[in-house]
Amino acid sequence: MSVQKTLSIIKPDAVKAGHADAINSMIESSGLKILEKKELTLTKEQAQEFYSVHSDKPFYNELCEFMTSGSIIVQMLEGDNAIERYREVMGATNPDDANENTIRKKFASSIQENAVHGSDSEENAIKELNFFFSIN
Ligand code: ADP
Ligand code: MG
Repeated sequence: MSVQKTLSIIKPDAVKAGHADAINSMIESSGLKILEKKELTLTKEQAQEFYSVHSDKPFYNELCEFMTSGSIIVQMLEGDNAIERYREVMGATNPDDANENTIRKKFASSIQENAVHGSDSEENAIKELNFFFSIN
């Protein structure tokens, strides 16, 4: 299995609720390393660009509002099979469908306010990491 990097975002709902440390413990317990971390607040334009793949979805405007509603913590994760592994640790998009012991089962309050983001493919991981960090 190859070593990969992936982008993690702790979303405004989870930062505000003080869940960042507990979420990072779950990330590290899964064997992923947090290589880089920064806390910032997205502008509307940044949120729209980051989620541009969803621009035709009915939830796009609300999603961009939510993602700019407070600070977020963006992180570069690394480990074996990191992209899929982190998606497993996150759990399903809708917390009602998320497995036990996943971040979203524990900390998400709705399908929108679902605590975390994780890249879903190698191509998107590179794009998303470069949005916030510089990777080679
Ligand atoms: P994921 O974050 O699991 O990759 P998606 O890429 O499908 O999920 O959606 C991006 C984000 O948009 C979700 O994490 C969630 O915050 C929001 N979202 C997705 N589906 C809905 C929905 N039906 N209603 C409201 N918000 C949604
Ligand atoms: Mg997605």
